[in-house]
Amino acid sequence: MISIANYINGVLKQSNSNKELDVYNPAVGKVYAKVPDSDASDIEEAVAAAKKAYPSWSATSIEERHDFLMKISRAIEADLDGLALAESIDNGKPLWLAKSVDIPRAASNMRFFATAIMQFASEAHEMNGKAINYTLRRPLGPVACISPWNLPLYLFTWKIAPALAAGNTVVAKPSEVTPMTAYLLSKICKEVGLPPGVLNVVHGQGQNTGAVLSAHKDIKAISFTGSTKVGADIALKAAPSFKKYSLEMGGKNPNIIFADCNYDKMLETTLRSSFANQGQICLCGSKIFVEKSIYEKFKIDFVKKTSELKVGNPIDSDVKIGAIVSKAHFDKIMYYIDLAKEEGGRILIGGKAVKPKGNENGWFISPTVIDGLAYNCRTNKEEIFGPVVTIIPFDTEEEVLQMANDNDYGLAATIWTENLSRANRMASQIEAGIVWINTWLLRDLRTPFGGMKNSGVGREGGFEALRFFTEPKNICIEYSK
Ligand code: NAD
Repeated sequence: MISIANYINGVLKQSNSNKELDVYNPAVGKVYAKVPDSDASDIEEAVAAAKKAYPSWSATSIEERHDFLMKISRAIEADLDGLALAESIDNGKPLWLAKSVDIPRAASNMRFFATAIMQFASEAHEMNGKAINYTLRRPLGPVACISPWNLPLYLFTWKIAPALAAGNTVVAKPSEVTPMTAYLLSKICKEVGLPPGVLNVVHGQGQNTGAVLSAHKDIKAISFTGSTKVGADIALKAAPSFKKYSLEMGGKNPNIIFADCNYDKMLETTLRSSFANQGQICLCGSKIFVEKSIYEKFKIDFVKKTSELKVGNPIDSDVKIGAIVSKAHFDKIMYYIDLAKEEGGRILIGGKAVKPKGNENGWFISPTVIDGLAYNCRTNKEEIFGPVVTIIPFDTEEEVLQMANDNDYGLAATIWTENLSRANRMASQIEAGIVWINTWLLRDLRTPFGGMKNSGVGREGGFEALRFFTEPKNICIEYSK
């Protein structure tokens, strides 16, 4: 049994209460590790360490911070195989996916912000020869980074890298469902000699650790990725002390397919945007709107492609759909499949729990395609976050725009058409923070990332993240005597 430790003030240690939580390998449905069930006293210690480390870390040169982040990035790359295997076991995602996406992206997050901070600059505003204003951007102090289970190391590093690069110290709270790679990263930080207290990782349940951290008086900002419900709770906790916050939350993303699209590319990509990571990516296109003239053809082709996706042991290289992250999440997805049936949906394929040979006790769901539902029923409005998509026909651009925007969320949207004018018209009118045209999940780390409506407040990515993690101060100097 692996025993995961907190990382506080440069030391790997258990929680003060010595209480622990079970960590499951979802592909076999068994506990394989224990993680600290930390409480307020552990958070107190971590925030105190971050506070103590802040004066010297914020005074380091950008070159020094760049060098530390690059060392961490290289260490992640050097342990690609070990980290990918750990991520796959912890989360249930296919090993090849962890190896080709999650871990390389974690390394590039560190590298990206190591170099971004070297280029980051503040503004000057001259006033017609009379005066000049310049803006100083200072780090904030100890900040909190709270991350979810679906892309564990990928999203954990996406937050801590800009926070550290900008000169803040961090108390980070990874998901208790998938804590392993954040723990392994703590070990890397020790190995590369990151000064004590600069990064602190406290494991535990959302209510006992995340909530206490969000409300802590010495925490200056909160960067959160997770569910909309928890995001709302964090906003409430942060408000009384006027902390800055950035909230990246749920999605129910439309994938809009016009008849004039590049059909083969659309089909391949739609398979990925529906089922990658078992559909547990906030950006997955879970509502597929298809123009009526190709609706029947798409249905047949898409169901056939879906039937070819192998569900099974995440370690096997030919497996496309691994395990669902936890029993609780498995139950939630199955609940929504039942709801879809109650709402009159037809299950075209999937809709069932699967027991792959050798992994009979794991939590697997076959990729599921549903049609026959109203665009605004609960199944089509609530986030399922699993390998479940619905298909909805449409006649006109106006109609699909109205259906797509009748959405409490506004994270991402995908549009498939070869008509350039229509693509741009749709993109400008769709209510989503990120729009992909004829592609999906193509990411440039410099671009603003985030959602509108119930999907988020604020933007991550590029200089946006460095702006979030710094406080601007304007200084005005008059030239005249
Ligand atoms: P979650 O909200 O349950 O948990 C996220 C993190 O918050 C975990 O570390 C958890 O322990 C912590 N937490 C829980 N309760 C808390 C509280 N009261 N105060 C402070 N912290 C608390 O989310 P999840 O189930 O881990 O992740 C899935 C969700 O994340 C989905 O809704 C998905 O859409 C969303 N997500 C969004 C993005 C994005 O970029 N917008 C990316 C990935 C995932």
